[in-house]
This record gives sequence, C-alpha cells and structure tokens, in this order.
Amino acid sequence: RHKEKWAATAPRIASTRLALHHFDTSYSLHLGALWPSVRAGLLCEQKYGALLNNFAAADHIPQELELLNATDFISEASQKAQQWQRVGAAGEAARGCQEGSDEGRTVMQAEIMTQAETSPLFSASISSKIKCYTFPRGDITRFRPARPDALGLLDYYLMDAASLLPVLALNMQPDDFVLDLCAAPGGKSLALLQTGICGHLAANDVSVSRTKRLYQILHSYVPKEVRDTVSVTSYDGRDWDQVKGGTFHKVLVDVPCTTDRHSAMEEDNNIFHKRRTKERQMLPMLQLQLLMAGILAAKPGGEVVYSTCSLSPLQNECVVERALDIAEAQFNISIHVEDLSHFRTLFQDTFSFFSDCRLGELVLPHLTANFGPMYFCKLRRM
Ligand code: SAM
Repeated sequence: RHKEKWAATAPRIASTRLALHHFDTSYSLHLGALWPSVRAGLLCEQKYGALLNNFAAADHIPQELELLNATDFISEASQKAQQWQRVGAAGEAARGCQEGSDEGRTVMQAEIMTQAETSPLFSASISSKIKCYTFPRGDITRFRPARPDALGLLDYYLMDAASLLPVLALNMQPDDFVLDLCAAPGGKSLALLQTGICGHLAANDVSVSRTKRLYQILHSYVPKEVRDTVSVTSYDGRDWDQVKGGTFHKVLVDVPCTTDRHSAMEEDNNIFHKRRTKERQMLPMLQLQLLMAGILAAKPGGEVVYSTCSLSPLQNECVVERALDIAEAQFNISIHVEDLSHFRTLFQDTFSFFSDCRLGELVLPHLTANFGPMYFCKLRRM
C-alpha cells in the first residue's frame, strides 16, 4: 500500500517551540515574575530605531522624524546627563562656600545635590555625534525604508536601538583605534563610524558571506574617504591575538549567541534546530574565547565591551566572570569591570532594564518598549 513519505519520519518539532520551551525553563528562574512580560515582548513585533547617517545629505531628516513624533533618544540622554552634572557642580560649589552651614538650602535640596555629586552620572557624559530616532513608549509606528541622497548614500539605518548601547558604552575618543571583532552585518561598525572621530576601525567577522553584507552597508552609508579608514577582515576572532595583540584603544566583542528574539520567532537559521544542538551548547565556550581574544587585543588601559542579544546569564555574566579569572590566572592581566548603572538612569525612558545583573546591564523586551534583549558589559584592561 502506498505510504506518504512523511509518515515514516517522526514529526519534527519546530525549532521556535524548542527555543521557547528552553527559555520558559531557564528564564522563568532567572527573571522570575518579569518573564511572562518579557516572553510576550519576544513574541511581538520588535521596535526599531533610525540611526541617522551623518555622512548623507540628510539635514531635513530630523525635522521629518520629529513631525512623526519620533525623538533622538541619545541627545535626550545627553541633556539629562548634563542636567545632573550641573546639579552636581552646584552641589560642590555650595559645599565650597557654605562649609558647615546649610543655611538657604533645604535638607532635600542638599540631598539631591549630594546624590548628583556621587552618582556616576556626574562624571559620565553621553557626548556622541550618534543620533538615533525612536518612537515614544507604546507607539508602534514603523519607519519608512531608508532613501538615498543625491550621491546615493542612504539617510538612515534601521536597527534595534538597544544595539547602540554597547557602542555608546565604548565612549569613543578622538583618533581611537577600534576593533570590532565580530562585526557583520555591520550595524555597530556603522554606528562607531558615525561618531566621526574613529582613528582606525578594524571590522572583522569569520563569515565571508556576512562580511559581504558588511561591505554593502559600508558602501551604502559611508563615503570613500571614511571607508579608507576601515579594514575589513575575515579571521576567526579567537586567533586575533596572533595577528595584532595589545594594539587597540577600544574593542567591541559582540559575540554570536542564541539570538533569543530570532530563535523564538523564526524557523530559518534557528540555533535551536536539533541538528545544531552541539553548536548551541558550545556557544559559551566560543564566547569566552572571543572575549579573551578581545581582551588581549586591547592595549593596557584599553576598554573592551562584551555584548550579546540573549537573556541567558550563561552567555552573559558567566562568560565575563570566567574571562576575568582566566585573564588574571593565565595572563596576569587585571581587569576592572566598569560601572554602567548610569545607563539605566539615562536611558530608562526608552528601554526597560533588568535591575539585577551581577555584572553589566541588560535591556529586557517589553510590550511598550520592544527593544532587545541586549546585554553589555564594559571591561578595562589594567
Ligand atoms: N556586531 C554585528 C552587528 O552589529 O551587526 C553583529 C554580530 S553577530 C551578533 C555575531 C557575529 O559573530 C556573526 O556575524 C558571526 O559570523 C560572527 N562570528 C561567529 N564566530 C566567529 C569567530 N570565531 N570569529 C569572528 N566572528 C565570528
């Protein structure tokens, strides 16, 4: 009797279902009562930000986007930081002239000033030329597709706005030599170039096909004279130290991970596919090796930002903790974990943050602010 071919094989369980089952088991423990709302966010349409292309003739774009009610969340955060700095400076000045006397100041004013003086915000500045527009919380308007200017450069790049936080955490300074160890398709490399102060950018990615996408993005957004400051390579990032160790002021290690939003929603190229089980289980090891290579690529005093788009502590804090141990024990390198808690205060209007990370910061998807997940942690090589 004729048998349908599919009847002989066990029904395949969708990779998205496997992913959700895995997330339900592990993230309900890690995120507790927050998990149901994060889960709902993962399963709903993601929000985008429009990264303005400073190299395009696009002076009219801010006005166009503001008419739609979108705002540049980075300049808003930068203004907030400046306000805190002014309050902190006023606190210091007042303390200088009224040492021992609180006359003319209420207890509450004095407290606010002290907070502003001691807060990391006081010393932090989000001084960046990077501009990224987002719609307000709860507004799910979509941006129109990017358009070319007269020279063919596109006016903005649509990306998960939370992906800019690791780039901002790098705090680029004029003429910095920067390594983006896992750079393709290139959203964060493009954002690094938008600062306009990069001395040299080494953009590397092991995947040749994804590196092609990186080239395309550079060609669509960046003029030739700036592209000439970028070198694109396709090394295995784990071997970077053998190529150029200890030379970079800033290193971004944006590792391959379980890409939780993609894994929960798309069957295509899903790392929870049965045949990719081993690869998925090996991810924390690969991530650790890449982070170690990033640390070794940084100069003494240089800064490394590690990031993932996963909620998994095994791929986030645990990898950072292991790297700190190995750097100390095997390479005699001390690492300082930088405090990024001011990001939570500065960007709380745009993103939902998890408040219980042991190390680094984590943006949680939320129905009213559906960005992320995005984990980032900043290390300084001593
Ligand atoms: N930073 C990119 C961006 O913002 O567009 C996204 C990077 S994606 C999260 C991770 C990348 O790591 C992938 O493009 C993948 O090809 C690359 N990758 C995986 N294994 C690698 C390795 N051993 N060395 C270098 N890159 C690797």
